[in-house]
Formats: sequence, structure tokens, C-alpha cells
Amino acid sequence: MLNLVLFGPPGAGKGTQAELLQKKYQMLHLSTGDAIRQNIANGTQLGLLAKKQMEDGALVSDNLVCSIVADYVAQNTQANGVIFDGFPRTTEQAKEFDKIMADKGLSITAMIALDIPDQTIVTRITERAKISGRADDQNPQIVQNRIDTYKQQTAVVANYYQEQNKSFQIDGTGSIEQVFNLLCLEIDKLIK
Ligand code: AMP
Repeated sequence: MLNLVLFGPPGAGKGTQAELLQKKYQMLHLSTGDAIRQNIANGTQLGLLAKKQMEDGALVSDNLVCSIVADYVAQNTQANGVIFDGFPRTTEQAKEFDKIMADKGLSITAMIALDIPDQTIVTRITERAKISGRADDQNPQIVQNRIDTYKQQTAVVANYYQEQNKSFQIDGTGSIEQVFNLLCLEIDKLIK
């Protein structure tokens, strides 16, 4: 089972690439951001607890996000593979993720980071804001909060996977197709 963490700052293209990879490799795709938005839309307890942090561009608590992932993993143990998009976002989540997987006899195969500079992040999110309908894409201050949160709390997660020799990085600045091709090259090496 190929379990991939698709890593990178907001606006790096994780969601777009995950959808393409999902089709090509017959994998499942869990976006914790999408799962939280769905909980908010459905008015669940989890959604109510997560709403404020999401609106502010801050991180939702590790416990809430890990509970989403644990449920998902438990329900999909027979999958071909899963692309985890937007998770883990803290070292605590990464540690808990290992436990969640090990509990089901599974492990994370690799983390692939999409590398893009800050200016490209802002340009991409500004473009996406026109069609995403996401409140956290519309407000420049919230976009900046999300970038700061990534730098302060999430970027360090790459070290966790580096220490396990599971970390790979590709250039995320090209077109959707170019980035997809680079990702496929890495994944094909992993599945050989
Ligand atoms: P995304 O759709 O991945 O850009 O995530 C949107 C928002 O959902 C983030 O700004 C956080 O508020 C929340 N979120 C998504 N994934 C996580 C996570 N792994 N840990 C904490 N908060 C998250």
C-alpha cells in the first residue's frame, strides 16, 4: 500500500496534484482541509470546534485533525494507497500519524514536498480565490496568516521525514502538467 504525504505551503498545488495522482495510481485522497470544511458545513461538533481557527488561518487542534485521519485510515485499510493532503501539519501530528498507521499494520511510504517561493503562493491563492469560494482565500491578511503558520509550525515537519529517509522534494513552480510529471517520476521510483 502506497501511503503518500503531499507536503508544501498553502497554494502549492497539493489538492490539484492529489486529484490527478488519485486517478493515475488508483489511490484515495484525504484532504484534511476539505474534511474540516465539510464538518463546518454540516454543523458537526468537530466543525463547530474548528471553525474559528480555520477562519483565522490558524491550525485546528492536533486532536481534532488526528481523529479525522484515524477514522479515515480505519475505514480504508484495504485501499491501494492514500494521498494525505494537508496532513500532518505539526510534528505532533506526524508522530501521532505514525501510531495511527502502525495500529492498522500500515506505514507512511514517503513525503513529497512541493517547493514554491512565497510570491508564487500569494499569486496562486489570489487566482484560486476567484473560483474556490473559500473565505480563507479571499482576505490577504488571512492568506498571510496561513503562510506564517506554515513557516512557524508546519515546515519543520519535513525534518521528521528526513530523519526517516522518507522525504523528497520537487520543484512546484511549473505548470500543473510539469509538476505532475515530476511527481510521477518520484512515485514511479517508489513503487518499483
Ligand atoms: P487547507 O485546505 O489544507 O488549506 O486547510 C485549510 C485550513 O484547515 C487550514 O488553514 C487549517 O485551519 C485547517 N487544517 C487543515 N488541515 C489541518 C491540519 N493537518 N492541522 C491543523 N489544521 C488543519
